[in-house]
Amino acid sequence: MALVVQKFGGTSVADLDRIRHVAGRIARTQREGHRVVVVVSAMAGETNRLLTLAREAARVPDERESDALVSTGEQVTAALTALALHDQGVPARSFLGHQVRIETDSAFGRARIVRVDAERLLAAVAGGAVAVVAGFQGVDGEGSITTLGRGGSDTSAVALAAALKADVCEIYTDVDGVYTSDPRIVPRARKLARVAYDEMLELASLGAKVLQIRSVEFAKRYRVPIHVRSSFNDNEGTWVVEEESAMEQVSVAGVAHDRDQAKLTVQRVPDRPGVAARLFGPIARAGIVVDMIIQNASADGTTDLTFTVPRGDYDKARALVEGSARDIGAQGIAGQLDVAKVSIVGVGMRTHAGIAARMFDVLSSEGINIQMISTSEIKISVIIDEKYTELAVRTLHDAFIRT
Ligand code: ASP
Ligand code: MG
Repeated sequence: MALVVQKFGGTSVADLDRIRHVAGRIARTQREGHRVVVVVSAMAGETNRLLTLAREAARVPDERESDALVSTGEQVTAALTALALHDQGVPARSFLGHQVRIETDSAFGRARIVRVDAERLLAAVAGGAVAVVAGFQGVDGEGSITTLGRGGSDTSAVALAAALKADVCEIYTDVDGVYTSDPRIVPRARKLARVAYDEMLELASLGAKVLQIRSVEFAKRYRVPIHVRSSFNDNEGTWVVEEESAMEQVSVAGVAHDRDQAKLTVQRVPDRPGVAARLFGPIARAGIVVDMIIQNASADGTTDLTFTVPRGDYDKARALVEGSARDIGAQGIAGQLDVAKVSIVGVGMRTHAGIAARMFDVLSSEGINIQMISTSEIKISVIIDEKYTELAVRTLHDAFIRT
């Protein structure tokens, strides 16, 4: 008998029919003799609808009230799922974040979990009921409702699995698992049977949007095995687990891409201490996340500095940099909005030589120009013209991934 956490995303609980279907699946797991804790998202589209309502009610919605509003989406599905379970003869109880007691900090809209009290859930499942928890929400030290950021139900589920010491955290979604690349771009992409936490972290942050990044960080820290699978069939999905020696045999596990990138270059920046801090300080204070940064070695006492930001932040970043560039005596600024990042990821890169050279070779054979390069132990990313994204992803997949 195992303790299983099952999380169902918005498309899996999009309407009553699907909620009934989900209830059937939960009932089956329970009949197989397992204790089940369920975490649900809001119905597909509901969180967006509520966020829009908040913006209609106030030009700049107060964050505390906004969280009180958007968290209701999950309250609805938690109660409906419990009701659907009752209808199938399965005892079930719904719990909101504060009832479980999922305690977070007070960063409304992007709160972090600080403590999970699992006692009430354990008592419920020990008594034979299914506990159905509203995902995405918690409560801060003051008793205010908080939310965990978009996609946060994944993190609710993993945090509960960690606190309950569950045997597995199953994440049910509308895809069959984690793929070697986006199947819409690479029809030959295949489902990964197993992927290491670190690979998943890179793939998640690189735009493979199956899991909220924070949930993977949590899983890694507490060694929670995650099983990502479809709620629409019974296929085995992808296991996200600790690194295994077999994973090192494969140099590249996946090819990811991210079109949400724009590039800014500050030209002929005087090469002296404090200049980079002066440039990036205002950008950081504006809450803009800088991704890649490249600075050239200087020849004549000046250097070019190039970096990327999310496309939606381009204008703001450019305006900020223009201000600082004048102050530090840089020559000018150039930018490009339509760039994309393409990356290959794999823990095997630690032990395989020559992966980068091969990647550059493959791209050059297609005439794709590399504008920026960055690497980590298990990842190589390049910035290229956005119009070559699909070609780059497909060719790299053909070159590196056995299908
Ligand atoms: N309902 C929330 C969202 O749409 C949380 C989640 O689904 O994970 O972001
Ligand atoms: Mg999600």
